[in-house]
Amino acid sequence: MVEAAAPRSYLIHNATLVTLQPLAAAAGPQARIDADDMGVVARGCLLAENGVITTAGSYAVCAERIAHARSRFGSSFADYDAGGRLVVPGFVDAHTHALFAGDRAADFEDLAAGRPPRLGMAHTIAATRRACEDELLTHGRERLDLMRRHGTTTVEIKSGYDLTRDGELRLLAVCERLGRDAGQPRVIATFCGAHAVPPEYGTADDFVAYLCRDVVEPVARQGVARFADAFCEIGFFSPDQCERFLRRCAAHGLRARLHAEELSHSGGAQLAARLRAVCADHLTFITPADIAALAHAGCIAVLCPATAAFLGLPRQAPARELMAAGVPVALATDYNPGTCPCFSLQMVIHIARRWMGLQAHEALAAVTLNAAYSLGLAGEVGSLTPGKRADVLILGVRDVREVGYWFGANLVSHAFVGTKSG
Ligand SMILES: [Zn+2]
Repeated sequence: MVEAAAPRSYLIHNATLVTLQPLAAAAGPQARIDADDMGVVARGCLLAENGVITTAGSYAVCAERIAHARSRFGSSFADYDAGGRLVVPGFVDAHTHALFAGDRAADFEDLAAGRPPRLGMAHTIAATRRACEDELLTHGRERLDLMRRHGTTTVEIKSGYDLTRDGELRLLAVCERLGRDAGQPRVIATFCGAHAVPPEYGTADDFVAYLCRDVVEPVARQGVARFADAFCEIGFFSPDQCERFLRRCAAHGLRARLHAEELSHSGGAQLAARLRAVCADHLTFITPADIAALAHAGCIAVLCPATAAFLGLPRQAPARELMAAGVPVALATDYNPGTCPCFSLQMVIHIARRWMGLQAHEALAAVTLNAAYSLGLAGEVGSLTPGKRADVLILGVRDVREVGYWFGANLVSHAFVGTKSG
């Protein structure tokens, strides 16, 4: 059982703490991660006060502070015996499209039968446009609650299923409202204006011109979105079109993320490097030259292996080659109704371990600290470091190597979301 309303001040003792403190002390996101970097503390304690981690380490280190907190918080202070189980930072999902209406179950039937999808993204765009704001909010709340129950305490949500000025502003406003819910995942919004060409536009060029002329500036002025994203893919947007859109966004303070080389090799990774994007996402069909460019540019690779698995793509992104070349790797769900209806980073970790060759500690860093870096949040979340928000999970295993080994069941017994304000 995952508790719905967790306390803000509590002690977890008798834990196998996976603090990631050595990794968090390094300057910037790391590509090569050693098991020793995970900062594992056997029989460790974690103390949270008012939703902020105040100590995490051995009992001897924490004892004085714990006694002080007990007297300070009295009966509102909770105490958990982890029984030797893993206590890890809350997961950070750095790539989702979690705000949409309707489903694409019919497309899944087609996919499984080897037929082209009958609905496509146009179906989701139409359903999302029809949905009222309260419906979208309700859908979003249900999904975020499910994500939290599976360990996600921070989630990036992209707009991009309305693709009109007012509709995109509405989706971003719903993201902002979702992020205000106490005890639920923190939301970081991304303006994914160049997601698809909506049916009323004849060409991608016309639509990009509309975005640049009429949408980017109001979105930036709204102040909800922190990033901008585009779908660089054959049949969607070319590198030139993505560049026009993302440069316009960057001029208004929205840093670039980019869907790159997801379904084919179409030039997105080189564009991400050229734009110094925060991250390049998917990278299924990336080349060695692309990897070198991303490494040189300092981009983070946000890999979404559940998408390639769901679609039955012939390969996964070359995670080990990226890491060997010096590109930090984060893992994300890509949660969306068409190509990855999976909201669980636990499933993503399993697929990354099985099909990308990531080791358990690498996968854990990829869904915590490296993902936090990709969202500009590494100073706030992503490790069990005093001063960071108390986003904390208790998992039903006792050894790091078991993370991603068991799959198909939820290993999260407790998911705490710390304070969102400080
Ligand atoms: Zn995506």
